[in-house]
Amino acid sequence: MSPAPDLNAPTLQRWLTGPRFSGLPMPTADRPPPKLSFEFFPPRTDELEKQLWACIERLAPLAPRFVSVTYGAGGSTQARTHATVARLARETALTPAAHLTCVGATREEVDGVARQYWAAGVRHIVALRGDPAPGTAYAPHPGGYAFAADLVAGLRRLANFEISVAAYPETHPSALSPEADLDNLKRKLDAGATRAITQFFFDTETYLRFLDRCLAAGITAPIVPGILPVSNYTQAVRISGMCGTSVPDWMGHLFEGVENDPETRRMIAMVVAAEQVRLLQANGVDEFHIYTLNRPDLTYAIAHVLGVRPGR
Ligand SMILES: Cc1cc2nc3c(=O)[nH]c(=O)nc-3n(C[C@H](O)[C@H](O)[C@H](O)COP(=O)(O)OP(=O)(O)OC[C@H]3O[C@@H](n4cnc5c(N)ncnc54)[C@H](O)[C@@H]3O)c2cc1C
Repeated sequence: MSPAPDLNAPTLQRWLTGPRFSGLPMPTADRPPPKLSFEFFPPRTDELEKQLWACIERLAPLAPRFVSVTYGAGGSTQARTHATVARLARETALTPAAHLTCVGATREEVDGVARQYWAAGVRHIVALRGDPAPGTAYAPHPGGYAFAADLVAGLRRLANFEISVAAYPETHPSALSPEADLDNLKRKLDAGATRAITQFFFDTETYLRFLDRCLAAGITAPIVPGILPVSNYTQAVRISGMCGTSVPDWMGHLFEGVENDPETRRMIAMVVAAEQVRLLQANGVDEFHIYTLNRPDLTYAIAHVLGVRPGR
């Protein structure tokens, strides 16, 4: 811990002796840019569908490693996920990944969806348990996969999918303990997943200490940080509360006074997310999963700042 700066010292002396921010890596032409993947959600209306495909068109030239599409509870959302992923496979050069949950479904139903993906040329599944209806506790479907680890094992038996799973640097909200949650992550990877993508987080230290714990538990697969650019602080606080992500005080401070100024909020979002990624890069991490919220400009700008350019 560095000593507190002497605020009464003459300015230049304070600058030259006070605590330092560490230098962050700058993108240069000869340095490989980080590897990015992007997440979308399936559109609910024709208008939102147009917005999603405009977003995909804008981000596609950045050649992400893969693009994933989330999967919600209920039939129509699931059909929209399937339609979006199948169209990505059919009409673009992108590598699509389909999120698939096991909550509220039999094994046969889940296997059926996975088989349809395989038939549509989709080779990457993000395998998840999913959440119960709001206000109810999770209970496995009697004829279903109980947890994500069981789903991973089931998918492995079905076909040679690439499988990603979820990880929680701040522990899943309903886990018995951080240790039990880490054991669960290890089970998912041991069952055949090759990558974990994290719940979004804002405190880099929390994520880095989580990586230490993963390594100590014998996990060597990449635990790719999920990056959420925040331009709506109130919404971020609400969503964070639901998924157990802590929101640091500095973030509230950053958004103070710009509640009615969306343009400034978006610029703040870009800077904060790019800084978060660069700080993680300074700590050796070189893969990132960006939650795009189906809006291309923040993600595009962040990628650009990181040195990710079309055609590179
Ligand atoms: C990157 C990412 C993408 C996501 N995409 C989607 C999506 O598209 N659609 C969607 O609906 N949700 C999505 N979610 C949310 C996810 O479905 C929820 O967080 C859900 O509550 C847990 O899913 P999981 O796959 O992590 O579950 P699991 O890994 O099964 O873990 C769920 C909980 O059960 C505990 N647990 C596991 N096994 C056991 C056991 N045998 N006994 C007791 N407890 C156990 C775990 O510790 C944990 O607390 C996503 C989350 C992330 C991080």
